Amino acid sequence: MRSWTVTILVVLLIAVPVSLKIGKAQLALYRAGTTDELTGLLNRRAFLEEVDDSTFLALIIVDVDEFKHVNDRHGHWIGDQVLRATATMMARSLGEFGRVGRLGGEEFALLAYRDDRALLLRQLELFRETIARTPILTDGVPVSITISAGVATRDGRQTFQQLFVQADRALYEAKARGRNRIILAENLKLGSDAGAVRIAGRGHRRWLGR
Ligand code: GH3
Ligand code: MG
Ligand code: MG
Repeated sequence: MRSWTVTILVVLLIAVPVSLKIGKAQLALYRAGTTDELTGLLNRRAFLEEVDDSTFLALIIVDVDEFKHVNDRHGHWIGDQVLRATATMMARSLGEFGRVGRLGGEEFALLAYRDDRALLLRQLELFRETIARTPILTDGVPVSITISAGVATRDGRQTFQQLFVQADRALYEAKARGRNRIILAENLKLGSDAGAVRIAGRGHRRWLGR
């Protein structure tokens, strides 16, 4: 056999399949490094790496309310399924606005890039309502949960870190005011009843998170 025929055969039979396998293994490794194992969302590190200080418009932190009780009442196995379902619902409801990730435990976040704040807030409120009224079916056991969220929107100057602190404060406020609600960081300065978001929805004005 001629030497160039041998070379071509070696390339086709060995080199190509081996490099394809290496490529697949690298992709799998990359995915494992950036994906949260339980929920399939971006993990904390990958989510934070997504941050591009020049382009993102809002940060929303979502936390499942009194999730410890879910674990205590139903066990961690069911708790895990509740987290998975919550993650899926959040990605479906809000994924179109940016990147959704799991910050850890029962905390999720959205980094919004889409420039449609009113729609984002409406969709977030819809997500809160849907979670609150739809029991999650886990191994046949319906589990009812609620979520609280803190929202910080950007005027173009704040860094991600500053926005994170604001969103976290708003979330803390949502918990302090009774949970199952959404609070906007920018409204917190305005007074005791401020913070909850007022939006026009379905033909009437109402409070986000009551
Ligand atoms: P709050 O409304 O104030 O947020 O109360 P909480 O009970 O949700 O908050 P807390 O921080 O007291 O409890 C969070 C719980 O989430 C405790 C921890 O065991 C549980 N948790 C964290 N990660 C996981 C997980 O991956 N799976 C399950 N099943 N539970 C988890
Ligand atoms: Mg919680
Ligand atoms: Mg928490």
